[in-house]
Amino acid sequence: MSQDTAKPAALPEATRARLRERFFGRKEVAAARGPALPGFRPAAAFLGFEQHPAFARLATSQAAARRMGVENPFFRVHEAAAGATTRIDGQECLNFSSYDYLGLNGDPRINRAAIAALEHYGSSASASRLVAGERPIQRALEEALAAFYGTQSCAVFVSGHATNVSTLSSLFGPKDLILHDALAHNSIIEGARLSGAHRRGFPHNDWEALERLLAEIRPSFERSLIVIEGHYSMDGDTPDLAKFIELKQRFGCFLMVDEAHGLGVLGRTGRGIAEHCGVPGDEVDIWMGTLSKTLAGCGGYIAASRTLVELLKYTAPGFVYSVGLAPPLAAASLEALRLVQAEPWRVEALQRNGRLFLEAARARGIDTGRAEGHAIAAVMIGSSLKATKLSNALLAAGINVQPIIPPAVEERSARLRFFLSAAHEPAQLTHALDELARLL
Ligand code: PMP
Repeated sequence: MSQDTAKPAALPEATRARLRERFFGRKEVAAARGPALPGFRPAAAFLGFEQHPAFARLATSQAAARRMGVENPFFRVHEAAAGATTRIDGQECLNFSSYDYLGLNGDPRINRAAIAALEHYGSSASASRLVAGERPIQRALEEALAAFYGTQSCAVFVSGHATNVSTLSSLFGPKDLILHDALAHNSIIEGARLSGAHRRGFPHNDWEALERLLAEIRPSFERSLIVIEGHYSMDGDTPDLAKFIELKQRFGCFLMVDEAHGLGVLGRTGRGIAEHCGVPGDEVDIWMGTLSKTLAGCGGYIAASRTLVELLKYTAPGFVYSVGLAPPLAAASLEALRLVQAEPWRVEALQRNGRLFLEAARARGIDTGRAEGHAIAAVMIGSSLKATKLSNALLAAGINVQPIIPPAVEERSARLRFFLSAAHEPAQLTHALDELARLL
């Protein structure tokens, strides 16, 4: 998105009045003009969201793209269960934009589990579990996740994003320190900001820089948390978990790992970054993950000690003041987690595809940045316009892959991001890369 900061031109008073009434209603405008606010002159900000600076920036970059004849690649409508393939605008295409890493979304066994829960409990849990009560399926999912991570307990939330925001903001406060990887997901940064803790990003995957930072500032704070991800979704690389564990022990910190893209992807049996690095997972204090990716559902979870989970269940706003996970979604993810473990060939197929894609991309001279050959490969393009045009050209050739542009990534580091699945055939991967190499 453009960094254009041009201010909108001043509008005539008659237009401003009309806009005020349209966005705020006659009553509010009359009240603002009334005797209660003598001398009140509505600022430009009062005019409504068309005048919002972020909207103005968005409109400017969209208009520029239209002028250049570049179609908007976002919000494409999928008319099928999007997996290794999908249907967009009636066209069957290869799909590299789904987090369905193990090809489980739409699996008849998962669908049947969701339907059974739907018929038994209905579609909604209707209110917070604290007040409206539990459904056994929610507890069963939490127990299965805790067993999977080898933790004492687990809490599931209705959104992965809200899980991070709510967990970080409720566990830490102004006397604490939160150190996160510079490429951490927005939900981690938002949660850290909301907590009021002192927040510092450290260079991506750079545990040596983190060590220097800890030596310098750790003593000034009470509790301290290091937050990393198991598998970084914009680049497809992984941290050296053992080094982060060593630092957390030496400097007396907690360690939180977001496994949104690690579960089902990393490690011989898909157990994630601890299995991938060959280190015990019990040194991680907070395992976080989402239900929306490998687990074919929607929601997030925290697997941790009994104490920490109980604390969250009674205090985290996104748990206490938000509805419990919908029973059909809980059932779907529970069945998906069973299948991750019962069908290890899926993890093997995904890992084979990851390696094949990386090798085949390199053989064609394609720059895959920091990708390590797991389930995510970023093809580095640089210019946002070029990445968007490539995405559109690939779609025209029957290949759906999304451009990732700022602010999701740094300026001039736009890329095409390929999400791979266990369900992709090797020939589909090489075909997509041949098309990409031709277009590049
Ligand atoms: N953490 C990471 C690392 C993510 O990539 C995402 C979203 N893709 C989230 C958290 C939020 O999860 P959800 O989309 O399930 O809300």
